[in-house]
Amino acid sequence: MSVRTTCPYCGVGCGLLVSADGSVSGDPKHPANFGRLCSKGAALGETLSPTGRLLQPAIAGRSASWDEALDLIAARFAEMIDCHGPDAVAFYVSGQLLTEDYYVANKLMKGFIGSANIDSNSRLCMASSVSGHIRAFGEDIVPGCYEDIEEADLAVLVGSNTAWCHPVLFQRLAAAKKTRGTRVVVIDPRRTETCDIADLHLPLRPGSDVALFSGLLRYLADRDACDIGWMTRYTTGFDAALACAPSLAEAATITDSPIADLAAFYDWFAVTDRTVTLYSQGVNQSAAGTDKVNAILNCHLATGRLGRPGMGPFSLTGQPNAMGGREVGGLANQLASHMGFDDPADIDRVRRFWRAPYIAQHPGLKAVDLFEAVSAGSIKAIWILGTNPAASLPRAARVRAGLASCPFVVVSDCWETDTTRLAHIVLPAAGWGEKDGTVTNSERRISRQRVFRSPPGEARPDWWMLCEVARRMGWHGVFAYRGPADIFREHAALSAFENEGTGRRIFDIGELVTLSDTEYEKLEPLQWPAPGRSVKVSGSARLFAEGGPFSTENGRARFVPTRWKSQAELPDREWPLVLNTGRVRDQWHTMTRTGRVPRLMMHQEEPFLTMHPDDASAYGLTEGEFARIESRHGATVMRVRLSGEQRRGEVFVPMHWTDCFASAGPINRLVSAAKDPISGQPELKATAAKVSPSPSPWWGLLLTTRPELAAKTKLHCTGHVCP
Ligand code: SF4
Repeated sequence: MSVRTTCPYCGVGCGLLVSADGSVSGDPKHPANFGRLCSKGAALGETLSPTGRLLQPAIAGRSASWDEALDLIAARFAEMIDCHGPDAVAFYVSGQLLTEDYYVANKLMKGFIGSANIDSNSRLCMASSVSGHIRAFGEDIVPGCYEDIEEADLAVLVGSNTAWCHPVLFQRLAAAKKTRGTRVVVIDPRRTETCDIADLHLPLRPGSDVALFSGLLRYLADRDACDIGWMTRYTTGFDAALACAPSLAEAATITDSPIADLAAFYDWFAVTDRTVTLYSQGVNQSAAGTDKVNAILNCHLATGRLGRPGMGPFSLTGQPNAMGGREVGGLANQLASHMGFDDPADIDRVRRFWRAPYIAQHPGLKAVDLFEAVSAGSIKAIWILGTNPAASLPRAARVRAGLASCPFVVVSDCWETDTTRLAHIVLPAAGWGEKDGTVTNSERRISRQRVFRSPPGEARPDWWMLCEVARRMGWHGVFAYRGPADIFREHAALSAFENEGTGRRIFDIGELVTLSDTEYEKLEPLQWPAPGRSVKVSGSARLFAEGGPFSTENGRARFVPTRWKSQAELPDREWPLVLNTGRVRDQWHTMTRTGRVPRLMMHQEEPFLTMHPDDASAYGLTEGEFARIESRHGATVMRVRLSGEQRRGEVFVPMHWTDCFASAGPINRLVSAAKDPISGQPELKATAAKVSPSPSPWWGLLLTTRPELAAKTKLHCTGHVCP
């Protein structure tokens, strides 16, 4: 008898069947994947070994009981709040958490501690999409569904190596292309594996997407390809957006694209009604990420192409539950259930619903600023749940120094990481298959993650730890959940609370408020909204097909004027290259899970620096030799790979390796902390850098059961550590 659950990796949110022996297959009934899997999902059964798992709470490196650890956390957080106020403490959470974990963390920090200093690693992933959606639609809404990818005649992939990062959606698109003849355009500075199915690849200058899509808006207007009737009825602001849009020739110059290629793309977009634009981290992880998103949304608003089969803008979410985190307000500038701090009525509504004594009144610190506050000493206690900021945040060395000097650091995780090493208290968290809850994927589909094995040692779910700390801080009744079903029902009730009439929030899952425990256990994947009343938004698979109403004051969508600005760190004589970072096919984030699976490590067994052969020759580098790569923020050494598919003047390094897995350490040590002014999302794809040869008389592969050796060695050890 197999258990139906959901993949814990990317935002596609594939359904899985897990057999009693731990083997994993795709769930043929799950609408995200219909039985398909990628290499990471298929290898999940190999990640279930207890080897290397954190098994017991630890205080200052010694084993402790749960009571001792939880008492100490509650006491230290209370002490810091008493002495320095609620904004002296923080939570940093994760798109890996289940919605129920996320809900409780957000409620505790924003409603009871009284600060909004809870941010998520989703800030690094899709915060710019959230901001763009809110600017255009008034609410964080993805209008379409995965079927649109199969029903489109033109699929535009922007800043997305879909083949490696959302492989099952890529499989669905590739299959549709075969049967339907879908035209595919890939917009990406690199020629990635996704280009294997592209009819056109536009290797644009990094960061110039705003000019590309603003230029498209002007082209649509000049060719009478806009849907004037739709725009007039359902939108505002078109003239202002058009006024700052460049001509085709200007866009070609800014994006460094051949004018014929750009014109071909613009033509295809203009004449193809069923167009879907899928975008991911190349758009979001940018100092202009929000403007990039709005430049794309503007083109879909101008053509009225959203919410109908085969058309719409589509943010591909990186993490398995980034969307669920957004629903519960897991970002520092959100409240809960798509409410925010701009409207005092929202703050009061959440306060009354939670019966919250000290509800936060203003947004908290976003991830980069939050860790700056840790470094500056104004955050004095932080709890990090299910994420590894010591490796994943920009200027990672500075983040580590900040955590090392922070008076009180708690980390809950499944495995030892670069971040657990800096914690005063480490809590063993239950992982995938060991805890119950829900996740929401990129198409707004809520799916269950189910238990199919016991947690090892004393590992416990995050929601339980948070509730135990809340109870010890004096908040008993309001955190007395019997299990995740209780939490989910409360989350659903908040979504429906006072959510009627004008100005209603589209995120509404009121239909699920009355789920029994058994119904929650059996819950089938479903897309929100599911309001459970006669009020019909416009269907739940797709939204806005009828032109709204959007969640704005007047119910209309908003065009946003977007002007291209150059990237934050421009190359110059001293730092002549642009450092881009991204994923490889078989690894996930900082490799805490995938780095333990030999067959996944075989795809790319060590970190590497990819560069164009002409650049390599100019800097005296050859294939397979080691290069030193430096930015204003740090330096490391990696083996060189040559690729003609890399633009000249740009280099690429994968984001995954950390000190736990290679002496090259995390590439984010080199990455600048420039960030989008609206979303706060850092620019992880364009740091000014330089390279030089790093001659090695010899090199070796270190195989060890002692992960700390990789971090300590001064050798050019680029092999992985087998835990
Ligand atoms: Fe998991 Fe994403 Fe692969 Fe699906 S595509 S199996 S969700 S990693």
